[in-house]
Parts: sequence; structure tokens; C-alpha cells
Amino acid sequence: MNFLKIFVRNLVNGPSTVSFPFGPAWTPARMRGRIEFKLPSCTGCRACEQVCAPGAIRFDKTPEGLRFMMWHNTCVFCGLCEFYCPTDAIHQSDDWHMAHAVDQKFSMAIRELIPYTNCSACGMKTLASAPNPVGINPPYTPEEIEQHRQLCPACRKKALAERGNPS
Ligand code: SF4
Ligand code: SF4
Repeated sequence: MNFLKIFVRNLVNGPSTVSFPFGPAWTPARMRGRIEFKLPSCTGCRACEQVCAPGAIRFDKTPEGLRFMMWHNTCVFCGLCEFYCPTDAIHQSDDWHMAHAVDQKFSMAIRELIPYTNCSACGMKTLASAPNPVGINPPYTPEEIEQHRQLCPACRKKALAERGNPS
């Protein structure tokens, strides 16, 4: 009797499972999936590297600039990098399509470079990273972000003081 009830209920309600891989699969709203990195928003603070316990994120100084590397094969999807990033430059998407053959593991990495530039005020060699928005009030406008990206730390400090945000 009980079996018949369940049978009829399932006939009425339809399947409870998804037809993966033969149809769309439901993705939970808070799914912690593939890491995405937005280079233009990165300040180069390296907080994400510091909090990444398995060492999936690494920055290296190169002659061209500061190189960012992130390995999905090492990531445990804890979300700490996103939590501590001051600019939302790194975050976890809900993309879980990451199955791959072992010989494709090198394609499961993110490689980006924050290049060196010359400070537009004093000419000193500096990283063209985004300015840190923490404690800046009123917030940076997009134009200011681009201006400060071209300044060295000392000239950014001066520009902040002129703006009324002494550090
Ligand atoms: S989600 Fe966790 S393990 Fe993955 S890169 Fe971020 S901090 Fe590292
Ligand atoms: S701004 Fe975000 S992504 Fe860039 S180094 Fe800092 S914590 Fe990492």
C-alpha cells in the first residue's frame, strides 16, 4: 500500500533527480565553484595568497611585473581568498564544470600579470595595480582608479592627502 502511494506520488510529481549529463543540472545559489580573477581590480596586496592554506595562489616578482598564478587542481574551494580580497578582484563563481583529464591540468590555472609602469608624476618604476579602496571616502571614481593606477606609492599618498584622505 505504502509502495503504491509513493509510486503514484512520484508519477504525479515527476523525478527528483536531474538528468545529468543529458540535460541541465540544478546549481545551488551559493555554489563555490571555479575561481575568477579580475586583473583590473587587483591591488597586488597578496592577501589572497596569504590566506590560501593549500597554496593554490601564488605571486611572483618578474622583470615584467607581478605575476599572479592560481591552480584549480590545488584549490579546496574554501572561499577565503574572496572573503579577504578588498576589491572583489577574486571570487568564486557557481561554475562547477571542472572535470578534466590529468594532462589538461595546466589549463586549469589562471595566469595574469600586473605590469610595471612609470609613475605619471615622478617617473619612478611602479606596479600598475589598482589603488586600495579600503577607508577611502568618498569612494574612488573609475577615473580616479585609472589615475592612481599610474602613480607610485609615494605619489598616491600625496594624491590621497590632496583629496582629503591622508594615510
Ligand atoms: S578558494 Fe580557498 S583554496 Fe581556493 S584559491 Fe581561494 S583561498 Fe585558496
Ligand atoms: S586585491 Fe584581491 S586578488 Fe588582488 S592580491 Fe589583493 S586579495 Fe589578491
